[in-house]
Amino acid sequence: MTVSIELRCDNCRGTSISIPLDGGDDSAVDCEDCGADLGTLADIKTQLSLHVLGRKHAGAATFMLLH
Ligand SMILES: [Zn+2]
Repeated sequence: MTVSIELRCDNCRGTSISIPLDGGDDSAVDCEDCGADLGTLADIKTQLSLHVLGRKHAGAATFMLLH
């Protein structure tokens, strides 16, 4: 199972990011547009945490998808 969330690819600036929700924190997260390796699920969770802190309401629902 994967879900697309509001993140941006560092390579192509695309927003279609594939996240393996049923994987562990060391699962690879890839850009669906260009295939760039965007780090691990743990990295993305850290980014989302910062994102949520910066935009309290807009980011909250997105972050919930990971739990
Ligand atoms: Zn990309």
